[in-house]
Amino acid sequence: MTTTPDTAGGAASATGYASVFDTPVTGRWSAPGRVNLIGEHTDYNDGFVLPFAIDRRATVTVGVRDDRLLRVASTFEEGVNEISLDALDPASMTGWPAYVFGIAWALQTAPERATTPSFAAAGGDLSTIDLSAVPGLDVFVESEVPVGAGLSSSAALECSAAVAMTELWSLDLGRETLAAVGQLSENEAVGAPTGIMDQSASLLGRADSAVFLDCRSLDSEVVDLGFGASDLEVLVVDTHVEHAHATGGYVDRRASCERGAEAMGVSSLRDLDADDLPRAAELLDDETYRRVRHVVTENQRVLDTVKALRTEGPTAIGALLDASHVSMRDDFEISVPELDLAVETAQRAGALGARMTGGGFGGSAIALVRSADREAVAEAVTTAFAEAGYTAPTVFTVHAAEGARRDG
Ligand code: ADP
Ligand code: MG
Repeated sequence: MTTTPDTAGGAASATGYASVFDTPVTGRWSAPGRVNLIGEHTDYNDGFVLPFAIDRRATVTVGVRDDRLLRVASTFEEGVNEISLDALDPASMTGWPAYVFGIAWALQTAPERATTPSFAAAGGDLSTIDLSAVPGLDVFVESEVPVGAGLSSSAALECSAAVAMTELWSLDLGRETLAAVGQLSENEAVGAPTGIMDQSASLLGRADSAVFLDCRSLDSEVVDLGFGASDLEVLVVDTHVEHAHATGGYVDRRASCERGAEAMGVSSLRDLDADDLPRAAELLDDETYRRVRHVVTENQRVLDTVKALRTEGPTAIGALLDASHVSMRDDFEISVPELDLAVETAQRAGALGARMTGGGFGGSAIALVRSADREAVAEAVTTAFAEAGYTAPTVFTVHAAEGARRDG
């Protein structure tokens, strides 16, 4: 049985907006969450990732004000929060509103950051950004992307706000630049040291396609998944085990990767491939070696997945997903028993491939399944969790969907 995930809102409606704001609605914009199909902990090692935008979206209903206030409300939490566009200061931004206020600040700040890697790679002309006379906005947020399930509810929110502001303030900025704006906001206004993958997927995604991103050059390519034509779907198993990005595990893994790269004499693990592993095994302690091996083999699996999708089609990628999970479980050691159980049960119940997705230590697993097997796989996972005495997972299907857009 496939269930609906707990969501922060539901379908966007003018009613929610009107219950808190008086200004007339100007328009509605939405942006999707994402699933990372493969390529985990490769982003900060300058490697490759292959996320896709999903058919669960954050929607902002926006009205243009006649003053300079930016006001935000959400079904997520009661109350209206506001800030003046003349006093955008990331240090004063707290709680969920920082995800929206931060976008305005990052747009304003972008010209000063034109030479940073993300903005430089995006290549747009930032000198035209001028927020000194743009009108304030009333922004009402509703989202179908569950928070903290590894589906990037944060990028969905940031990117829906970014496309709305860009249009309403007549800014001529490309999608790659907006991804860099989202990253800048998340890093400095929210204070989360994340890469650019989530925003890239949310902004560049296309129906039944993934976004192949080179995290060094920031070049991206849309890759046809062909799941629809092959009657394949991706099941997400949200284990409800909480992930904590900023804490121990994530920081430790990053440190191991840096140590490994330094010992191997490269600027990042991206510069190593399978041929370098025997030397790494000699030079590094066992734990660091296994961390390095995960990143090196995971980068190769992303490349192999893209190649398999292009040459053999989507039924050929299952083994790569399986191998990715084993590598995260045994070498990178970021899985938890709930994720392992979800993956193993899905595989036994007929999934073509399965892996944990996201940063690890909880969150969600994904399984690539034939549509006909979807219910059986979902049922098997739910039953296995009950038998193990784990909290019931939420199991649902996602389809690769179009990126951020105007809806109304
Ligand atoms: P995720 O993996 O879902 O992106 P994050 O911790 O990065 O988890 O982001 C979740 C945060 O994003 C929430 O705690 C909240 O601050 C914000 N957020 C997500 N969805 C909404 C929403 N619908 N309304 C308000 N804030 C939201
Ligand atoms: Mg996030």
